[in-house]
Amino acid sequence: FVTPVSLPENDGGQIDLLLMTFNDLTPLRRVEEMRADFVANASHELRTPLAAVLGFIETLQGPAKNDAVAREKFLAIMQQQASRMARLIDDLLSLSRIELNAHMAPSTPVELASLVRQVADGLQTLARDRQVEIRLVMPPESLAVLGDRDELIRALENLVENALKYGAAGKRVDITLSRGHTRAGIPEARIAVRDFGPGIAPEHLPRLTERFYRVDVADSRSQGGTGLGLALVKHILNRHGGRVAVESVLGQGATFTMHLPLRTGEIPAGQ
Ligand code: ADP
Repeated sequence: FVTPVSLPENDGGQIDLLLMTFNDLTPLRRVEEMRADFVANASHELRTPLAAVLGFIETLQGPAKNDAVAREKFLAIMQQQASRMARLIDDLLSLSRIELNAHMAPSTPVELASLVRQVADGLQTLARDRQVEIRLVMPPESLAVLGDRDELIRALENLVENALKYGAAGKRVDITLSRGHTRAGIPEARIAVRDFGPGIAPEHLPRLTERFYRVDVADSRSQGGTGLGLALVKHILNRHGGRVAVESVLGQGATFTMHLPLRTGEIPAGQ
């Protein structure tokens, strides 16, 4: 939106002032555009399943009124679409709640090995359906962070669910808990989730945590995805002073890693 203006030569001061004004406006405008995009995307995502439900209601009231077989089939689809809307609303509410609390660092001690086991146990049914063995690799020592246990469970669940959904059926998913250091040398806990599926092409990697970004929309929809999972993971880790990283080689799988700063010495005994 910058229109070229002819300025008198040698008037450096005026040019500086002009550039400063544009630079000051741009971030604000970007935030506004992002918000408008988000509302448009969210409305579209909700409207699609809603249109399907309304369409089937009309069919059931009209042409398929006395067709018992069609009725069962359509009711099942309507239930699926309504569940999708419910999941979407849940994820949207979680995102806004986490964003609202973004400035407050969560401070309850959370022991990570038991958290990893809890998430793996909770996803056994999905793993069995996909014939995937979830393998846990635990460190000899106990690792704990200060955080919000429910949020951390949610983040890890999203990553393991994705590994089970988009990874290869019949292969393994590895969850590895370990201790490491940030680039600045601060001790951190890492939880890496590795699958052996098709992986993700490099051009998609930087955009994966954007809301509603999917590599393959049809694939995500058929898996019941909302496109908000990784955005949630990113916000949860930001709130914990950590980050999520992804590495992938096409054809060999993907590894998503949660990095969480360790606050050693602050965990009461027995936690
Ligand atoms: P969704 O609800 O669509 O799963 P996510 O935000 O969790 O949304 O993930 C965004 C997209 O990233 C997915 O639609 C999928 O295309 C891709 N993706 C996520 N995890 C993996 C994985 N382990 N392997 C391959 N692709 C993945």
